[in-house]
Amino acid sequence: AQRQGGHQFCHYCPTLTLSMDDRLTLGNALHQALTNQEFHLHYQPQVQLSTGNVTGVEALLRWQSPHMGNVSPERFIPVAEDFGLIGLITQWVIGAACEQAYQWYCTLPEPLVVSINVSALDLHFNNLEQVIFGHLQRLGLPPHLLQIEVTETGLVADGLQALDTLTRLREQGIRVAIDDFGTGYSSLSYLSLFPWDSLKIDRVFIQNIHQNVNNQSIVALVIQLAQALNLKVVAEGVEVAEEADCLRNFGCDWIQGYFYGRPLPAHQITSALTSPQPQ
Ligand code: C2E
Ligand code: CA
Ligand code: CA
Ligand code: CA
Repeated sequence: AQRQGGHQFCHYCPTLTLSMDDRLTLGNALHQALTNQEFHLHYQPQVQLSTGNVTGVEALLRWQSPHMGNVSPERFIPVAEDFGLIGLITQWVIGAACEQAYQWYCTLPEPLVVSINVSALDLHFNNLEQVIFGHLQRLGLPPHLLQIEVTETGLVADGLQALDTLTRLREQGIRVAIDDFGTGYSSLSYLSLFPWDSLKIDRVFIQNIHQNVNNQSIVALVIQLAQALNLKVVAEGVEVAEEADCLRNFGCDWIQGYFYGRPLPAHQITSALTSPQPQ
């Protein structure tokens, strides 16, 4: 394995599929990207099935490199972790997402929760809380309008430190979601050990769920389990109406996916939320 010691990253880790040259090129370009402001955020709506309302959005990082064009976060996040740049990138994401959350807080009639993805390594970086609370205080943004998404894979590396950080964030009112649930090093013990508000079911279980009886069983059971543990459920990667219908029947709380909307720049989200909804 290329990763040793405390960071046991997943078997499907995209870094491992890049050549050493590619990783070096990407790593150097990422340094530039931070100083040259080549990052921006897109936001994808999360729709509450019981009301049809958009009650949250997930911030997704976009990198437009002048040399390489658009580079997917699936490619560059693992490299950023390897090059020790993830902390700075996360700080940038938190700052930008909080500014936007504050804009929406000031202008939208209904509250909109903004979700931010944090890497496993960020949970070891003990500045995370100060960075988040610094922005909340500076802006006067209520903490419940911010959510942190963490993959369960990330928790394996150092469960206790992660538990500590997430617990303190949640005590202060930040919401905490377990991301990509059901993939990676799944362990049900993480469900009860950590202070989750919600659980995001990975899209591998959602794709074609209306035609896949096994995935129907899995998702129905995960939703029951979540309800028993008092967690809300978000289904990821909902692409067609049949999938959404199926999830509604199972009692899923929120859906996110191309069916309702792709990740978009903030201003497009704002216009979608402020223009009259078609019935
Ligand atoms: P994720 O957190 O699981 O985010 C969901 C991914 O699924 C996003 O890919 C989104 O564009 C995509 N997606 C949404 N709806 C659909 C759908 O209906 N069908 C399909 N096929 N895909 C859908 P994206 O934006 O390329 O991000 C990929 C991953 O990169 C994210 O997975 C997350 O793990 C990571 N990532 C993105 N932004 C950040 C960030 O700011 N910080 C960190 N640490 N990781 C990030
Ligand atoms: Ca996520
Ligand atoms: Ca996910
Ligand atoms: Ca994912």
